[in-house]
Amino acid sequence: MFQVLTCLRVEHDWRLVVLACAVCVMASAVAISLFRRARATQGRTRIFWLGLDAAAGGYGIWATHFIGILAYDPGIGAGYDLGLTISSLIFATVITGFGLGIALGNFSRWSAVIGGAVIGVGIAAMHYTGMMALELPGRIAWSVDIVLASLAFGVAFAGLALIVAARRDDIVSTLTAAVLFAAAILSHHFTAMGAIVFTPDPTRVIDDGVLLSPTALSLIVAGAAAILLGICLVVAVSDRRSKDKLRQQKILLDTALENMSQGLCMYDAQGRTALFNERYCQMMGLSAAALRGQSLLDLLKQRKAAGEFAGDPEEFFANVMADVRAGKPSTKIVESPTGRSLRVMEQPMQGGGWVATFEDITEWRKVQAQISHMAHHDALTDLPNRTLFREQLEQALRHAKRDYQTAVLFLDLDHFKDINDSLGHPIGDSLLKEVAARLLSCTRESDTVARLGGDEFGVVQVGTESQTTEASSLADRIVDVIGAPYSIQGHQLIIGVSVGISLAPADGSDPDQLLKNADLALYRAKSDGRGTYRFFETGMDARAQARRLLELELRAALLRSEFGIYYQPIHDLKINQIIGFEALVRWNHPLRGLIEPGNFIPLAEETGLIVPIGDWVLRRACMDAAGWSQNVCVAVNLSPAQFKNPGLVSAVVSALKESGLAPSRLELEITETVLLQNSAVTLDTLHKLRDFGVRISMDDFGTGYSSLSYLRSFPFDKIKIDRSFVHELGSRDDSMAIVRAVTGLGKSLGISTTAEGVETKEQLALLRSEGCTEVQGYLFNPPRPASEVEAMLSKELRIVA
Ligand code: C2E
Ligand code: CA
Ligand code: CA
Repeated sequence: MFQVLTCLRVEHDWRLVVLACAVCVMASAVAISLFRRARATQGRTRIFWLGLDAAAGGYGIWATHFIGILAYDPGIGAGYDLGLTISSLIFATVITGFGLGIALGNFSRWSAVIGGAVIGVGIAAMHYTGMMALELPGRIAWSVDIVLASLAFGVAFAGLALIVAARRDDIVSTLTAAVLFAAAILSHHFTAMGAIVFTPDPTRVIDDGVLLSPTALSLIVAGAAAILLGICLVVAVSDRRSKDKLRQQKILLDTALENMSQGLCMYDAQGRTALFNERYCQMMGLSAAALRGQSLLDLLKQRKAAGEFAGDPEEFFANVMADVRAGKPSTKIVESPTGRSLRVMEQPMQGGGWVATFEDITEWRKVQAQISHMAHHDALTDLPNRTLFREQLEQALRHAKRDYQTAVLFLDLDHFKDINDSLGHPIGDSLLKEVAARLLSCTRESDTVARLGGDEFGVVQVGTESQTTEASSLADRIVDVIGAPYSIQGHQLIIGVSVGISLAPADGSDPDQLLKNADLALYRAKSDGRGTYRFFETGMDARAQARRLLELELRAALLRSEFGIYYQPIHDLKINQIIGFEALVRWNHPLRGLIEPGNFIPLAEETGLIVPIGDWVLRRACMDAAGWSQNVCVAVNLSPAQFKNPGLVSAVVSALKESGLAPSRLELEITETVLLQNSAVTLDTLHKLRDFGVRISMDDFGTGYSSLSYLRSFPFDKIKIDRSFVHELGSRDDSMAIVRAVTGLGKSLGISTTAEGVETKEQLALLRSEGCTEVQGYLFNPPRPASEVEAMLSKELRIVA
């Protein structure tokens, strides 16, 4: 040691020693920063930086050595062997490059140490080759222990330098590594210099030709320094550029993060926040400062305490960590007790930690719920729709207890269409809403009430042991409650309801079967006079099929001209003569024979076939009447369905024209139901017909609503008293009262009254005494085929008064 210190103090020029140190530190700083650069890259770019680093490091070691040699003044002029000088530079560069390569390879924990040691060896190789290049007029001997010490210094410091450089990337460790690297070079150099024992020998001849003079060496060293500076410049510029690029990327990244509609947070392997955006802070309701470095578990606990998190924080955190450890991306919906829903997607990262994105889906879920509600409910009444009804029925069937029955009630409002058509859809809609509310009031909470379509409703009544009684009492209640009067927008309305009931499991165990059977029962309720309920019975299906067959046959009948008209005379009581005939349609069925209108007119009305049938009756009746020998009237029945057809007036006009029948000989019989529907249009049609000279009768008076207002709304030519009253004339006082009232009304209005269904002389006598003007009935003639009209006309009228 003493020898080294003496060497430094006595044998060196201090100024050059300082210069050597400065060059060495600068070169070391460059070498370390280039090492960093190389570490941050891959492939060919890494090889480029490695090459540059080897060059800078090698030059640094070499320049330090030679400036140090220049500072060394053993008192004798010296020269340098060119070949060895160059070799020393090559050694320095190549071995340093090799060492750096090992350190970068990162093949084991020790690669930085091994790489550093190799560089230490490189420094020594360079030094001793450089020393051999030194030509002196004397002999150099080495003290071995100091040589070994110099090697140890180089190896140790270079190893330490690379360990520090590889560990962390900040300014402190860069500087530390650079200083250690410089220490490796300098400690080695000056220790090695101290190992020299110089013995002057003037007999040694120095060959000037191949020697480099100190001046030339100074130039080379200066050149090396310039190259070093150049490398520094390249590094600095590229560093600045990449920093600029990084800054720009950071700005872009920040902008992207802050403008995301989602919250984003990156957690480290311990579950602590490492990076997050503003949206995340908003979602957590915490400031960025509070969230920085915050552990997810603590955050969850905090949110739990604030009532913002419903689950168990420990369990939730453990699940997340398990997913992350398994490298499994996951998506969770986290719902807060306050009704907020977050969709959290977690994507594990390499080396632990994960990135989570948070999306507030509260609104989206509300919309989803709304859409799902809309898909399962009726918009008008907010009752479940057919889809949900079916689902509920399925569920009720699945959960029905043993020995318990489930009832399906199928409801249809009676004549709802008439109200809708006459009073308009807004009133129809209000009525449906009111009906829905009343239905709900009739049922239990466990029952399902649904609107199945137009004016159809359904009820699933969940099982009890005595389901038949339960269902019939519910149906009874429904018929009563729905049938009570409604007051809607100033209109007093009455609507009936028909109910069909099927029971599970007796009438079927699958929803479709039950619905179908309830529908069949409903059909039965309707054909039994409406405003009532019926249970499904086996055989209803067969009847429904028969009905479908009838409908097909009815259509064919029109094409095959199977219809015919029977005529029933109408007698005037004053002149005791036939004054007209009522046309009554008959169906001559090829197999079933003559079918009465009561058996096919309702179906024809339901299916709309009444329009062509009625049209045919009208034409045929006009034709027949035009051919009669006496100018008596013909009365044709018109059904409400024909009034809905806008072609009615022109059909009547063309029937008259084609037959040549005088309009005054045609009477059209309508019922009150016709006036119920869209009265303004109906009245307009009636007026047009009447203006044309056709007479209009009010048929079946007393059976329907029998409102006097109908009689006032249109100037009828005749009122026909329904045969049910005539039938009971002798037996019931109220029938007598009705007949009396109607005849009195006819008298005061100045119109004729016709009593239908007169079968006995007693009835005739009573009617005559009450002032009835016309009669019709079996007492005189049943309806007879057209061919018998003349016979009826010519037959002398014998009425026993
Ligand atoms: P309506 O208009 O009340 O016709 C009178 C019905 O009373 C006829 O029945 C007739 O045969 C029956 N009748 C007549 N005298 C007596 C009697 O003394 N006692 C009893 N018990 N009945 C008597 P029909 O021919 O079976 O017609 C039934 C209903 O069918 C008619 O009732 C009418 O509403 C409808 N109808 C018949 N033909 C047509 C038609 O061409 N068009 C339309 N839309 N309906 C028709
Ligand atoms: Ca009639
Ligand atoms: Ca009638």
